[in-house]
This record gives sequence, structure tokens and C-alpha cells, in this order.
Amino acid sequence: MNGPTPSVDPRVSATSAAPVATNAVASVAYSAAPRKARRVPVPRVWPIKDYDVYAFLGGNAIVILAMWIRHGGLLELGTPAGIVTATGEIAALYGTFLVLIQLVLMSRSPWLDQVFGQDRLVAAHRWVGFGAIWLLFAHFIFTTVGFGMADGSGPVAETVTLLTSYPYVLWSAVGLALFVVVGITSVRAVRQRASYETWYAIHLYTYLAIALSFLHQLFVGVDFATDRVAQAYWIALYVAAVGTLFLFRFGQPIAVSWRHRLRVANVVPEGPGVVSVYLTGRELDRLPVRAGQWFRLRFMTPTGWWRAHPFSISAAPNGRYLRFTIKDLGDYTRLLQGIHVGTPVYVEGPYGVFTGATRTKARVLMIAGGIGITPLRALLEELPASRGNLTLVYRASHEDEVVFRHELDELASLRGATVHYLVGRRGSREMPSDPLDPRALRRLVPDLGERDIYVCGPAGMMERVLSGLHWLRISETQIHYERFAF
Ligand SMILES: Cc1cc2nc3c(=O)[nH]c(=O)nc-3n(C[C@H](O)[C@H](O)[C@H](O)COP(=O)(O)OP(=O)(O)OC[C@H]3O[C@@H](n4cnc5c(N)ncnc54)[C@H](O)[C@@H]3O)c2cc1C
Repeated sequence: MNGPTPSVDPRVSATSAAPVATNAVASVAYSAAPRKARRVPVPRVWPIKDYDVYAFLGGNAIVILAMWIRHGGLLELGTPAGIVTATGEIAALYGTFLVLIQLVLMSRSPWLDQVFGQDRLVAAHRWVGFGAIWLLFAHFIFTTVGFGMADGSGPVAETVTLLTSYPYVLWSAVGLALFVVVGITSVRAVRQRASYETWYAIHLYTYLAIALSFLHQLFVGVDFATDRVAQAYWIALYVAAVGTLFLFRFGQPIAVSWRHRLRVANVVPEGPGVVSVYLTGRELDRLPVRAGQWFRLRFMTPTGWWRAHPFSISAAPNGRYLRFTIKDLGDYTRLLQGIHVGTPVYVEGPYGVFTGATRTKARVLMIAGGIGITPLRALLEELPASRGNLTLVYRASHEDEVVFRHELDELASLRGATVHYLVGRRGSREMPSDPLDPRALRRLVPDLGERDIYVCGPAGMMERVLSGLHWLRISETQIHYERFAF
């Protein structure tokens, strides 16, 4: 599975001008004699399909409706006040159900990644989140108005009564307010104005909102207050969702980080504003990962430990080190350009299905733009090579944006692969039209319809290439891509 070891190796750069090469950890890690790449296990393949998940969710949606009917939901529909209240109850049940689905989506479970892929998960997270907030808000409005109609009191007076005389309703009102704040900050126009960290920090309030809303359901909701079976079912749903979250979001990363004790072993400049960070640790030959996958890295420095960012491995797994190549694109990636050797790193992952496991054809075309080369560089090393089946097209605006040129040429000659560098600013004299336009791409790689195509690069380039591939009627199953920003 693993390809040849690249000549660029942390030992080589231990004598380079990397800012950290004299550090004790680096010299300990690299004083050993050169060793060959070791085979590493591949991540587990989960025996779950998307229709299993839909069937499970659909089944539970029916159980929830049946539970509402069993508790006299239909009988409420005889009066206008009852219809309004019943709407509020239904909104509460399905709003909470969506919140629990959202918790599972937030768990970053590898099985979700495999079943749905990153794009569908991101879209689901967005729509399930907005759906939940709208339903919970509707629950508040309809229940207050419905109760008020039944009692003959106005919405304001009824709100005061609900908040002051029903158990835990005040808590849930605070929870709803937090949900609404999270929802507002997720609207695209607002989201784009805030930094990722601010948006993320506000998102953490979702957990508090869920906790605050929980108890009033059990003590006030007609579906649970008097029915032990319904109560047990509802608690079981919470336990399943929260358990999934804890297991995959916290348990697994803690176990992986503890077992492998990853540390920065070297930092090697690759070009202007780009460094490769090498991580070593214990038993790396037992860490299941494939070329094309990515980790969320948390560098445990006094000022940086609280944030984690996603990065793809830029060399095929070799059982000795993980390499990440990071471009300075903002405040965090700028800090990483000078990260110290020996810094412990907490990892979440590996994630992603941008790997050889999803390949359908023997021949492969890889299209990289800028720093999007990182997962493709690893794939070029790992994908099975035979009779020139691997072709890489690497697009960059300037020569100094081309990372790994030496390594790519070396890998190409070792593996019989073809690399095309398309360097120049689009619209300039030397590159008047888009070299990745579908016709140009077909001229460059005439058999592209017979290949799997892996694409990774800046958002604009990806959109153009993906729509070009659709225009060329390339089957969806042959197209694989990784987005670096959402
Ligand atoms: C799956 C994946 C793999 C990636 N692999 C690489 C790689 O191999 N090399 C590389 O240089 N870059 C990679 N990136 C991009 C890298 O994560 C961002 O450039 C980095 O997080 C920017 O952080 P910043 O604070 O420096 O910049 P900012 O100015 O904060 O952000 C720049 C952009 O990155 C996005 N971003 C910021 N923080 C995060 C985060 N924690 N999670 C998700 N998106 C974020 C923002 O939405 C914004 O579009 C990858 C991104 C993803 C999603």
C-alpha cells in the first residue's frame, strides 16, 4: 500500500535552517539510522449505508408521532386553542429530535464521514441546525399563545405565568435564547464577518442550550410527565446522541493522542509562507490512516492549545512520522510557521474519504491548486502505480507557489507518473485563458473520462473544475474532492 519513502525526510532537514533543529527532541528523534517506511493499518470501514441512517431516523420520527397520538394529541384538535397548543407540542418534539441529530452530526464520527462525505455533512449540519431553532422557536410561540387562548390571557401575561410557575421553563427560555444567538451567528452574512474562532466559541453555547432545555421536557411536557416508557425512550435518545458525541469527539481523540503522544519533530520551510511540520510519536505504525486524509491539530502551546485546525497529511503514512504542510493564510497558520520542536500535539482524526478507497478506475488524474497539493502529494505517493496510470496537474499563479516541485518530480520518475505544472496568472499574456477549462483539460489528459479524478485547491478553482467535469459528463462516482474552506 505504501509507496516509496520520499527523499525529503525530517532527518535531512535536521541540519537545515529550520528554526528548531538544535532542539533535543529533534536530535533524539533523528539520531537513529535511516529506516524504511512501514505498512500502517487502514482506517476501519463501517458497515453502515446512508439508507440505514435514514431508516433509523424515519423510524424514530414515526415513534415520536405515535407517542404524541397515544398521549391524546389528536383529541386536542377539537378547539382552536387545542390546535395551536398541539402545533407547539409537535414543534417541540421534532425540534428536540433535530437537536439530538445535530449532536450526532457534531460528534465528527468517522462513520458519518464515510457514509455521507464532508459536503453532505456540512449541508446537513446547517439545515438541521436552522430547522431545530425554527421549530423550538415555533414551540415557544404556539405553546404560549395556545395556553393563553385556553386561559383567556394575553401572550405577555401567559409568558410571565409560564416562566414563573412551571418547573424549569425559565431555564429552557434561556436555552432557547442561546439557540437563537447561535442561529443568528450562523447566517452567512454574519458568519463571514466574524473570525472562525468567534463563530466557534459562540457555537459552544449549543451544549449549554441543550442542557438547559432538557429538564422542562420531562416535567412539563404532556408526553413525558406521566408516562415512564415515553420518559425512558426520550432519555435513551439523549444518551445515544450525547454518548456518540462524547465517544467520537472526545474519547477517541484523547485515546489516539494519549497512545501516540505526538510531538513536533521538525519544521522545514518549503517556500515563501509554507512550512512542513513533522510529527513523531509512539507506535505510529499502528495509527490507521490513509493518504488523502486529514487531522484536526491542536498544538499544545500556552497560547494555542485552545484552538484546533484541520490539515491534510502531505506524505503517505510511513509508520515513522506524519507530515503536514501548512500555508500561512491567517493568524493561526502564521503562528505555525515558527512552532517549536517538542511541542505536544493533540490530534482528532483521521477524517476524510478523499482516499484511494473510493477509487473506481485503474487510472487516476489528480488536479491540485496552490496548497491543495498536500493531500494529492500523499496520494501520488500511495496510490498503486502501473504503466503510467497516475497523472497530476498542478495549477499555481506564480512559480514560488509551487510546493514540493523536487519531490513531485522525483516521485513521478520513481512511479512512472506524469506531472503537468500549469503556472501563470489567468488572463496574463502567457496564460490568456483558463488552463483548467474543460476543453483544455481534455486536450491535456485525453483519457480523463476513463479516470478517477481527485481535485483539491482554492474554492474558485474547485468550482470551475467541478462544473467543467460535469459539463464533460464525468460520472459522479469518478469525481472526488476535498474542500479546504466552507
Ligand atoms: C479538510 C481540510 C484540510 C486542510 N488541509 C490543509 C493543508 O494541508 N495545508 C494548509 O495549509 N491548509 C489546509 N487547510 C486549510 C487550513 O485549515 C486553514 O487555512 C486554516 O485553518 C486557517 O486558519 P487561520 O487562523 O490561519 O486563518 P483564518 O483567517 O482564520 O481562516 C482562513 C480560512 O480557513 C477557514 N478556517 C479557519 N479555521 C478553521 C478551522 N478550525 N476549521 C475549518 N476551517 C477553518 C476559514 O473559514 C477561512 O476560510 C485545510 C482545511 C480543511 C477543511
